[in-house]
Amino acid sequence: MAKVGVLALQGDFEKHIQMLDRLGVPAVEVREKSQLDEIDGLIIPGGESTTIGKLLVRYGMLEPLQTFARGGKPIYGTCAGAILLAKEIEGSHQDRIGVLDITVRRNAYGRQIESFEADIFIPRIGELPVRGVFIRAPVIKHVADGVEVLSRFGDDPVLVKQGNLLASTFHPELTNDTRIHAFFLSLFPV
Ligand code: GLN
Repeated sequence: MAKVGVLALQGDFEKHIQMLDRLGVPAVEVREKSQLDEIDGLIIPGGESTTIGKLLVRYGMLEPLQTFARGGKPIYGTCAGAILLAKEIEGSHQDRIGVLDITVRRNAYGRQIESFEADIFIPRIGELPVRGVFIRAPVIKHVADGVEVLSRFGDDPVLVKQGNLLASTFHPELTNDTRIHAFFLSLFPV
């Protein structure tokens, strides 16, 4: 069975571990670069992208993660995790993994609707919508050729995939719906 890691430096990593647990997949809490050699794919949780980025630099994990991504290992980033995967972050030079061809704008839903929930339709995973929980979420402003938009909220992409890389601006781990995590697991080679 594939070994899935969840980056556990900061943020809501425990929720992802619970989600994987419900799918019958044991997860590894990843805190050191040496652990990257032992896993087949990684989830980067929501949290604070600047903090996680700084910790990745401090623990020497940024380059190993870039190599991990470029080697074709599946990575799924939620919210801050999506920001860390993005190549471009508007107006920011913050540390990032920077392997996914998208441009994001952080905290882009404005103060009034900083956090909200909405039904998100993702044809690829089924007809019934997913409850999208957005918490100080970024907006994906641009996707390059080769990036598939699997779902939008209004005009904005909220779930995108580029080969082995998956990113959502919302938090499926905060619901009881395991379908997006199951979809992520389907990206693992058998
Ligand atoms: N606002 C956070 C950031 O910019 C992301 C919030 C989240 O992960 N829920 O890093």
